[in-house]
Amino acid sequence: MILIKNGRLIDPKSNRDEITDIVIKDGRVKEIGKITDETNYSEVIDATNKVVCPGLIDVHVHFRDPGFTKKEDILSGAKSAARGGFTTVVCMANTKPVVDNVETLNYINEKVKEACINVLQVGSITKSFRGKELTNFEELLENGAVGFSDDGIAIMDTDILYEAMKKAKELDVPISLHEEDSNFIETAGVNDSEIAKKLGLKGGAKTCAEDIMVARDCMIALETGAKVSIQHISSGVSVEAVRFAKSLGAKVYAEAAPHHFTLTEEDVLKHGSLAKMNPPLRTMKDKQTIIEGLKDNTIEIIATDHAPHTIEEKNRAFAACPSGIIGLETSLALGITSLVKEEHLSMMSLLEKMTINPAKLYNLDRGYIEEGAIADILVFDADEQWVVRDFDSKSSNSPFIGEKLLGKVKYTISEGNIVYTDK
Ligand SMILES: [Zn+2]
Repeated sequence: MILIKNGRLIDPKSNRDEITDIVIKDGRVKEIGKITDETNYSEVIDATNKVVCPGLIDVHVHFRDPGFTKKEDILSGAKSAARGGFTTVVCMANTKPVVDNVETLNYINEKVKEACINVLQVGSITKSFRGKELTNFEELLENGAVGFSDDGIAIMDTDILYEAMKKAKELDVPISLHEEDSNFIETAGVNDSEIAKKLGLKGGAKTCAEDIMVARDCMIALETGAKVSIQHISSGVSVEAVRFAKSLGAKVYAEAAPHHFTLTEEDVLKHGSLAKMNPPLRTMKDKQTIIEGLKDNTIEIIATDHAPHTIEEKNRAFAACPSGIIGLETSLALGITSLVKEEHLSMMSLLEKMTINPAKLYNLDRGYIEEGAIADILVFDADEQWVVRDFDSKSSNSPFIGEKLLGKVKYTISEGNIVYTDK
């Protein structure tokens, strides 16, 4: 049995915010309330002046396993997640081979058993990410997939996407979409503006590359009634499109990544390839509109798009290096530093977007703390400043190295086991 003493319990599902104690037994929350007898516990965690909340959930990570395990694998990714306060993550399907078949899914199913947190996997929407033929949704779901995504590339064929959404609606699973039309991209990973020119490029990724896809897919979501997640929203116009679609009744969710509400395109000049990701960092106005979207709940989910790459890969010339940055170990602190400290969001609202909202998208019985619930719990110090230096991820491609952030993970507890302790 574990006792968490005297912490500030913040549970967005119940809106609970109070100082209390929590008892964990057999992987579940046994009791919440004042505990006076501290004997008989294998561990007593003093959470005085700390926040105790549900373990974080990230619906968008790349653990590169199978196929690219030099960058990350399921076990190292899980460790990185635990250090960031996450107890559940959803892996994308752009591995090698792509997760479009049961054999690959079974390999992943075996490996996640060894992971220190709950690692879930989506299947791809189309075979080999080619956008031409749907995978067998039923079969992949029966074998453990939790949803579907071709994250990494957009699905251009509206007929295929319409069929995918109809099927997803029938099966009550989410479809997650990477929204970029490559026809409007000269060089990926940088906004199409003066910044791209300063890098010596002919052009970058136009905002409308994202906007037209988001607008289109919001309307297909409206037509089909499917639960659709717009991944890593980066454009202000796209935020407006999601807001409009929601007002019409579309079941559209949007995910914002910490880098998109913290950085702007100017940071590409500062950090080079470490600030290259798809979709790219945009203008200050885009960033402000994303923050507005987070505030009025147009954007209900914060997800990292944790995308590890090796130093060698990131050292290539800007146009030739792969897009993406790691994010699991800085996500909570960026939320606190960029959103809570700046008074855009309350702590409750930030945590809602990192716990119960992502759980709802994937129909998970997680992301909340109450008696009887799975004991996925995070203890953090909201006021502790720290400098980003090293990572438990295999990769270190982060533009936040050297940054002073607020909010430090102290303990991560996954299904009743302490899987990370800050030393
Ligand atoms: Zn993506």
